[in-house]
Amino acid sequence: MTKLGEVIVVGGGPAGIVAAIAARRQGLRATVLDARTPPIDKPCGEGILPQGIAALKLLDILFPAESGYPFRGIQFVDGRHSARADFSGVTGFSVRRLKLHQLLVNHAIEVGVDFRWGARVIQIDSEHVMTANGKFSYRWLVGADGQNSLVRKWAGLDSRTAPRKRFGFCSHFQVKPWSDVAEVHWAQGCQIFITPMAGQEVGVAVISRDSGLRLERALRRFPALADKLQEAKQTTRESGDATSLRILPAVTRGRVALIGDASGTVDAVTGHGLSLSFQQAIPLAEAMRLNDMAHYQTAHKQISAVPIMMSRLMRAMGGSDWIRGKAIRLFQKTPGLFSKLLAIHTEETPLSSIGLAEIAGFGWKFLLT
Ligand SMILES: Cc1cc2nc3c(=O)[nH]c(=O)nc-3n(C[C@H](O)[C@H](O)[C@H](O)COP(=O)(O)OP(=O)(O)OC[C@H]3O[C@@H](n4cnc5c(N)ncnc54)[C@H](O)[C@@H]3O)c2cc1C
Repeated sequence: MTKLGEVIVVGGGPAGIVAAIAARRQGLRATVLDARTPPIDKPCGEGILPQGIAALKLLDILFPAESGYPFRGIQFVDGRHSARADFSGVTGFSVRRLKLHQLLVNHAIEVGVDFRWGARVIQIDSEHVMTANGKFSYRWLVGADGQNSLVRKWAGLDSRTAPRKRFGFCSHFQVKPWSDVAEVHWAQGCQIFITPMAGQEVGVAVISRDSGLRLERALRRFPALADKLQEAKQTTRESGDATSLRILPAVTRGRVALIGDASGTVDAVTGHGLSLSFQQAIPLAEAMRLNDMAHYQTAHKQISAVPIMMSRLMRAMGGSDWIRGKAIRLFQKTPGLFSKLLAIHTEETPLSSIGLAEIAGFGWKFLLT
């Protein structure tokens, strides 16, 4: 059976749902197909950066205050050294993935998005999307099927080189958040990030190159953190996923466009993944309405530029004790620098606001630290 659809979105994760909502806002009909049934969970640090919240707001997607936790900034901790910077505008918001999914699905239904759950897409051609139970014709096809996207492969948009993977394992602990910022704890070979969550809970995620490094073993490298979590009840089963820096030369081909993790990823330690997909949804919907995919390709590149740079910087910090130690000591001694980097990270300040003289000054201080 062939069903007509103006925009068919493959993948009903956060990226796919928000893409469909944005398409509806542009007056397009949107159908989302997902192999699974809601609410859909996924290993994630669950922190949404201010620019992600701002993008959702532009689409009138507002979360009830009690659904999450507004976090005020980021803290880096490395042994005895730590540096904290606060967001200067909107706060970040952490929300459990199950809750996030349910909220987004509810909002999408309200604005008229059509969902087909349990619909695994098995192939596409230039006009149709095929599932085991039928095929859907499309005017625009959006691949939002995650980091191992098949739409990307079928559309010939995969990059030739496979990205180097890291592995993240996540869980939740019942303990009152001890801080109003998201913390990144650094040690040799791994990072643990702590996200304050609603309901007297914290999210804990470890990221490393070792696919066998689970939280229990990783926490031995962070005795102060292990102490804080020692008495706390673990409330969710640990689950894991890969993360990588994957940059695609193009995210559109003909009437097919990729969004979210399908369209490239940055390392999870940056906390950018969800926000990127929410920011991408708006120009993608505009591009479909304008019949101008180049508009989306250009916007996608602009939106990804800072997160890609931050991903490289943070990976360099993770890969070298020398760089990390110096950087965090410098951030501690020069809080203005860390605040400026955070403002760039969250797009409150453009990258171009740092002049060459300032870069040279920071480089000099870095060497002297
Ligand atoms: C350890 C870890 C921690 C992270 N922490 C953060 C964080 O703190 N903040 C943040 O912003 N980001 C974080 N991220 C990144 C974030 O999780 C992703 O960027 C985000 O989930 C991407 O959403 P998505 O909708 O693109 O993909 P997904 O959430 O993977 O959704 C893809 C959907 O497509 C469906 N699908 C796949 N194939 C098919 C098919 N053939 N047919 C039909 N449906 C299909 C799947 O069922 C799924 O529902 C983290 C990632 C990891 C690994």
